[in-house]
Amino acid sequence: MKRKRAVGTTRVDGRRDDSVVCPCGSQRPYGGCCAPLHDGVATAADAVALMRSRYSAYVRGRKDYLLATWHPSTRPPGLDDAAATRWLDLQIRNHSPAGPDAATVEFVARYRVAGRGGRLHEISRFVRKEGRWYYLDGEFPHVGADGNAAPAAAGGP
Ligand SMILES: [Zn+2]
Repeated sequence: MKRKRAVGTTRVDGRRDDSVVCPCGSQRPYGGCCAPLHDGVATAADAVALMRSRYSAYVRGRKDYLLATWHPSTRPPGLDDAAATRWLDLQIRNHSPAGPDAATVEFVARYRVAGRGGRLHEISRFVRKEGRWYYLDGEFPHVGADGNAAPAAAGGP
């Protein structure tokens, strides 16, 4: 795309890594959104922030972060390589705090795998332990509608 260049203005289209828009849908640069969480230099302020950062970890293939933010009581031993799943976007539908250390977050994530589109609709439970939020488990309110099995988020058998 071409734009008229105003005389004397500074270029603002510099491409730094952190100018990539974060996949979690925040519209903020990745470097100022989920990257500090993924890199362990910040922790999620609440369950929604953890949810968003886990979604963007799926997008970016950060299995280390997914496992680290999975509650030890439900954490799978490992995660399958979900490279075939292409995550498209995330919508947070609802955030219900249940006291200071527990919350549920309902979301819909759209994906494509092997050329077919799908939707993961999940109500996830999160708990806070020693100041850190963890994903505990999730329910699928509309399983069976249209191939609504979780492609990777459920962790596999
Ligand atoms: Zn983000």
